[in-house]
Amino acid sequence: MNIHEHQAKALLKDYGAPVAAGVAIFSADEAEAAARSLPGPLYVVKSQIHAGGRGKGKFKELSPDAKGGVRLAKSVEDVVANAREMLGNTLVTKQTGPAGKQVNRLYIEDGADIARELYCSLLVDRGTGRVSFVVSTEGGMDIEAVAAETPDKIVTVDIDPDKGVTDADVAEISSALKLEGDAANDAKSLFPILYKAFTEKDMSLLEVNPLIVMDDGHLRVLDAKVSFDNNAAFRHEDIAQLRDLTEEDAKEIEASKHDLSYVALDGNIGCMVNGAGLAMATMDIIKLYGAEPANFLDVGGGASKEKVTAAFKIITADPNVEGILVNIFGGIMRCDVIAEGVIAAVKEVGLKVPLVVRLEGTRVKEGKAILDQSGLNVISADDLDDAAQKIVAAVKG
Ligand code: GDP
Ligand code: MG
Repeated sequence: MNIHEHQAKALLKDYGAPVAAGVAIFSADEAEAAARSLPGPLYVVKSQIHAGGRGKGKFKELSPDAKGGVRLAKSVEDVVANAREMLGNTLVTKQTGPAGKQVNRLYIEDGADIARELYCSLLVDRGTGRVSFVVSTEGGMDIEAVAAETPDKIVTVDIDPDKGVTDADVAEISSALKLEGDAANDAKSLFPILYKAFTEKDMSLLEVNPLIVMDDGHLRVLDAKVSFDNNAAFRHEDIAQLRDLTEEDAKEIEASKHDLSYVALDGNIGCMVNGAGLAMATMDIIKLYGAEPANFLDVGGGASKEKVTAAFKIITADPNVEGILVNIFGGIMRCDVIAEGVIAAVKEVGLKVPLVVRLEGTRVKEGKAILDQSGLNVISADDLDDAAQKIVAAVKG
């Protein structure tokens, strides 16, 4: 689960991290009061969407010369004018895809005078099985470009979970970031704070880009992107409150209600599969035969007919889906339950696209019989290879 920048900053502030004063607003009418509550004379008006690259982003509805999704303002009037121009419009950034995201809230922040923009993130390093700091002096811009062009400018420091962030770790990170004086002193508290927040709140990513050294020599968290580990959501009621459903894919929200592992993708072949490994293999083989999956979906091991029905309905409701591939290896999952779920869903919402079904394993005979007797126009397949070729052929016509 992701949260907005202003929420991430509030959370980090609670842990004692240096962040600017700011106010989140949902309508332009609130802009003036928000700006007046800040010291000025420099303000920042920041689009709150779950995507980065806002500064360089463009609003669809505005002229291409208009300023981006993060704007500096030098007066209260300027804040209000920018808020009016930005709110409600669609911001397209490198991370939103071409459709962009509607800006429904803004964060009005006290502006900082920046001496240097640095990069600092914490993530779970699967290689070492530890939380790592990934830092670079080249912050503010596209870190992927830095990684590709000048990888030596990115330094990784992994943290021993028994010890937490040690003085030696802080020194290593600070030296990588070339911090001196007040900034180096601020670092002694900031890096342990970031680590504490990351581990206590079960984050999977905490990205501060940029972390800045201000003109006065101190550090400040200027931008913050946080993702949480959904598997730990049950122990963080407070964080669940921060969820913004307007930022999420409607199909993924529906899937989460039914406890389905579902990820929406860009292709046109809807997939209903059991088991994450088989689901990945199914996506791979669809690509092998020249098409693209519309989703990843693992209905799980012992799914009920209701769950299968919900899953099938989510797939058929996706306007991008031009064909459906059901690929089930029944172990704990029973093929007849799958067949009943598919039929129940089709009865409710119809079936307008070709459907290829490959069933194997527990109660496969019963499953196939149910589909045969249903009168549904099902293209049946014998194995994964056959199934993938049939659905790709059906979709390509
Ligand atoms: P992103 O584009 O979505 O990553 O948004 P950021 O919050 O990182 O802001 C983008 C850029 O705006 C930063 O890299 C800064 O250069 C600039 N910026 C943001 N806040 C301030 C501020 O308080 N003062 C100044 N001078 N620039 C800022
Ligand atoms: Mg940023």
